[in-house]
Amino acid sequence: MTTTLVNEKSNSEKSNIEKYKNPENTEEILEKLKNVKFGYELFQLIQMTFPTLILNFIKEYSLDYDFLNTVWKERCEKDNVTMKQICIFDTLGEDSSYSVSHRFYEYIKNSGFDIKFKTDIIQCTKCKKALPTSSYYKVLSKNDDFKDKLPEKWLDTCSDCV
Ligand SMILES: [Zn+2]
Repeated sequence: MTTTLVNEKSNSEKSNIEKYKNPENTEEILEKLKNVKFGYELFQLIQMTFPTLILNFIKEYSLDYDFLNTVWKERCEKDNVTMKQICIFDTLGEDSSYSVSHRFYEYIKNSGFDIKFKTDIIQCTKCKKALPTSSYYKVLSKNDDFKDKLPEKWLDTCSDCV
């Protein structure tokens, strides 16, 4: 019984990822991407290609995780772009049959957005700023650069929004 449930879950995640395989008109899309203006036109192209790839935009991280804002800010300064927003992606496949969604990912990231996945980020129930999910909190707590900067325990709100 348990095995069946696990298989069902992984199958549904697999079919979810497959939605983002390169479409038949891949060359046409890549050609459009070369000429597209950043902003509305780009997001319209993404929306037309993969309607559920981008799930949300969030303005910034909670101050409890201000180091994530800092890392993002430093990357933008290095790339000489202005900070935009946190962009929440559904998922990304790994091999070359997903190269279009990877191109979108790179294009958005290099333009000042910080991209995270839906499994990594929730919004504070009060102020709507970005917070790590409990599973992403665990990932961060294993990272030598970040583990000392984390709040002592994970919450679904900012510490000053409680
Ligand atoms: Zn908050």
